[in-house]
Amino acid sequence: MKTPICELCAASGSLCNNCESRLSSGALSQLDVEVSRLLYKYRSHFSLDDVELAQILNMGRLVILVTSSDAGLLIGKKGRVVNALSKDLGMKIRIVQKTGDVKRMVEELLLPVRITGMNLVYKQGGEQEYRVRIHSQDVPRLPSDLIALEAALHKLTGQKISVALE
Ligand SMILES: [Zn+2]
Repeated sequence: MKTPICELCAASGSLCNNCESRLSSGALSQLDVEVSRLLYKYRSHFSLDDVELAQILNMGRLVILVTSSDAGLLIGKKGRVVNALSKDLGMKIRIVQKTGDVKRMVEELLLPVRITGMNLVYKQGGEQEYRVRIHSQDVPRLPSDLIALEAALHKLTGQKISVALE
């Protein structure tokens, strides 16, 4: 299992010098520490050995766990892992698998809302941006507000992505 903090720190209640300095520099967040320790604890109940948790995005109403391993591992059978995390953290959790497929990551992040289209827009000066379209009546079903979701999509994909309502 790979988490944002080292295994030793995930297994114990204290932080090593390395993780401590990453926490104070802001490279690690308190949430990174908390999630890593919970996952380590869950290892005795769930098969999490192959999990690689790459990044945790705290979007206020929603926490996104970005995994470079199979998303199903962190979701768990019948959603047991993600439900346990959600209960222990008191936050809504979304698992997104990091792939080279921007569209797929966008689709996973916006669930249960389905996108109606997505295209690459070239702006003046050669800048490019993905424009994702959804139905305006779906906005209340989005997992977070549009600004937070656009920020999350940017962090997740490294691309500029805007959501357009139609
Ligand atoms: Zn450590």
